[in-house]
Amino acid sequence: MSEKVVFMIDLDGTLWEDIPNEEAAERTADAEVYPGAVEWITKRYREGHRICFFTARWEKLRAITLAKLEEIGLPYHDLIMGKPRIRHTEYAGYHYVDNCSIVRANRFEGAWTQLIKKEIKVHVFE
Ligand SMILES: [Mg+2]
Repeated sequence: MSEKVVFMIDLDGTLWEDIPNEEAAERTADAEVYPGAVEWITKRYREGHRICFFTARWEKLRAITLAKLEEIGLPYHDLIMGKPRIRHTEYAGYHYVDNCSIVRANRFEGAWTQLIKKEIKVHVFE
């Protein structure tokens, strides 16, 4: 990627195995990090992109979350907690709206592979 961007990256189910907030205090320390995640994110960081972890974890889980990130040892810039939860709600997903010039989104489907350019149909304002 030539232009630098801010990567907003989820934690549970994306960086490491999916752990609900209700179980995070007990399970975070042993959470399995997905293969390739550390390498992928570290590469983006070294390319000059900003790495922001954006999670629906509760604020009270910040210390254990920071400890896990430190243990993993990958570089990042920000940790934003309190993203609205999707699990067990009526919401199908997130739809991001912003006035910045580039807005992209990828659904993580279990593999930290290379990002490729592909033409697809998306919802846009008329
Ligand atoms: Mg998640």
